[in-house]
Amino acid sequence: MQPVARGYAGDPMTAHLPDPVGRPRFLCDAMLGSLARWLRFFGFDALFLLPGPADHELATRAKEEGRWLLTRDCELAAAGPRSMMVRAQALEDQLIEVFGRLGLRPAATLENARCGECNSVLEDVTREEVAEAVPPHVLATARRFRRCCGCGRVYWPGSHSEGILERMETVIRRLG
Ligand SMILES: [Zn+2]
Repeated sequence: MQPVARGYAGDPMTAHLPDPVGRPRFLCDAMLGSLARWLRFFGFDALFLLPGPADHELATRAKEEGRWLLTRDCELAAAGPRSMMVRAQALEDQLIEVFGRLGLRPAATLENARCGECNSVLEDVTREEVAEAVPPHVLATARRFRRCCGCGRVYWPGSHSEGILERMETVIRRLG
């Protein structure tokens, strides 16, 4: 098991720093919340802000933080060289569109996943550390626990993550 990168929780103090492993970072507009979540599963730093800021604020923030601005708005897509119009409607198609246009081929693994809820990095934690936070049967059977450095949500391998992995594999297979 590889520990994930630490000290980079998408907070204002570190938001200007490049991704520690050199991946592109994203800022998704208010229409692309699911896309942001799934980019996080693939290990990308993908901001999604609610309530959605005004268009010019989105463009400015993306530029300041060196993020790709992903949007479904034509005008916003024309806001800069790192703004991208996402035309696909369905989530899998959107992921394929973004990966394809940026020449990305991420691995279908949750090893680098960020928190789907808040975009922060996950850290490995011991069974004892999460004893209060997970149901007893999970505590007894799950082989690994990770906790979000931002919101504290605890993740473990199970049927939910299996479903996510299958969908990630489908996306990468379709990417060709
Ligand atoms: Zn979180």
